[in-house]
Amino acid sequence: MAKIRHVLGISGGKDSAALAIYMKDKYPNLDIEYYTSDTGKELDETYQLIENLKIYLGKPIQILKGAEGSHLDPFDHFLQSYGGYLPSSMSRWCTKKLKLEPFEKYVGEDLVVSYVGIRGDEDREGYISRRTNIQSIFPYRQNIWSEDVVLKFLNFDLEKAVALTDTVYLGKKKADFIDVLAKEVTPKYNQQSKLSELLNQGVKETNYLIFEFLKTTSYPLAKESDFPLLDNEDVIVRDDVFRILEESGVGVPSYYKKVDFEEGGKKGQYSRSRSGCYFCFFQQKIEWVWLYEQHPELYQKAVEYEKDGYNWNQKESLSELIRPERIKQIKEDYIKRQEQATPIKSQYLLDILDDSEGEGCAACFI
Ligand code: SF4
Repeated sequence: MAKIRHVLGISGGKDSAALAIYMKDKYPNLDIEYYTSDTGKELDETYQLIENLKIYLGKPIQILKGAEGSHLDPFDHFLQSYGGYLPSSMSRWCTKKLKLEPFEKYVGEDLVVSYVGIRGDEDREGYISRRTNIQSIFPYRQNIWSEDVVLKFLNFDLEKAVALTDTVYLGKKKADFIDVLAKEVTPKYNQQSKLSELLNQGVKETNYLIFEFLKTTSYPLAKESDFPLLDNEDVIVRDDVFRILEESGVGVPSYYKKVDFEEGGKKGQYSRSRSGCYFCFFQQKIEWVWLYEQHPELYQKAVEYEKDGYNWNQKESLSELIRPERIKQIKEDYIKRQEQATPIKSQYLLDILDDSEGEGCAACFI
């Protein structure tokens, strides 16, 4: 039987770093390979986090790089090949070239289970590869399965789905499971409602049913006789992630820590909400101001990329963004938004910025 590889990508952000720790502690017998994709443009704190993790995990973290053999670092290599055309949310060549393609090359044709750190308090799906030899699993969520697996399971032939209930120990809940499986999906009772109802009947039992269903497919886990995460009922949320990082001694990257500032007689706090390239076009205006004030040398480097009409932001260049009156306006707007937001006691992430975590490049920020 082909051996399945278990892999976990470390983006440099808090969620994937904590996931590596969580998996090592909770599933020490799973032989997980850790990897990170280096764009060459991360903050120093990210590189430090990777070093700390290596020590904690007691294992190497494979560094994947696009454009291997180039004399330029990966981002600059591809920027040159794209004729200086900066990536944007509409044209995200950076994610493809610097993250996804190196990852797909790394796993090749092997059967792979890839663990992804989407938290239980997030409402988004992670990156799901189009390659059939790669299967994503989400250990932080009650529903550990990817959207495509769930969809196929819920659309499985009813007779066959009911037959699955004979292969899994469901005890007294068996009739209830069959009732839910038989329920028709309608616009009012959608796939999500049906999945939630199954999970409410029993998380473990639902997992075992889906695992049995997988044996009728070509997903990597179809080749396994057992999978320890079937018994997992944990739901890991943002505070848990910070706790895991702190308690392990790996620590939280310092760019998440709030920094005080004052504008127009009012106090505010800013930080960075994401890992990834320091010039990432997904960052909010206040994060650009943070970069300018906390890492002026990196801001200057980001400015130098803006030429030939290409900017990181659609509406203004980075040189325009740091005019004193513009910084004042960005900070004041941000303070207003902070005042309106529900206060969060955490010493880390900004309440408003935190909403942006799920935006954009899932492969980069998880
Ligand atoms: S962090 Fe941003 S700029 Fe860097 S690869 Fe990801 S999306 Fe692109």
